[in-house]
Amino acid sequence: MTVTKEKKVIGSVVITAERCKGCGFCVEFCPTHALKLSEQYNSKGYHPPVLISRELCNGCDICGIVCPDFAIYGFMKKKK
Ligand code: SF4
Ligand code: SF4
Repeated sequence: MTVTKEKKVIGSVVITAERCKGCGFCVEFCPTHALKLSEQYNSKGYHPPVLISRELCNGCDICGIVCPDFAIYGFMKKKK
């Protein structure tokens, strides 16, 4: 018999698009491939990242660690 535990914690990110310079480090280093660069431009002409799916993000904050401009961070929160 297989017992599947329901995920009680989900991850999410906060993105400050205006600080982003579109380097793509966050997209490249995200271990779950939860991010992509947006089609949209910020006011500096760069493509900031967007979350592809909340389900993919585990809140590890690797994106925040690698971002040179403090434009993104990840966090964990309890699932409702
Ligand atoms: S918090 Fe972790 S899983 Fe979520 S987008 Fe950032 S690097 Fe990816
Ligand atoms: S690592 Fe930071 S500056 Fe680079 S694309 Fe991601 S959010 Fe933008």
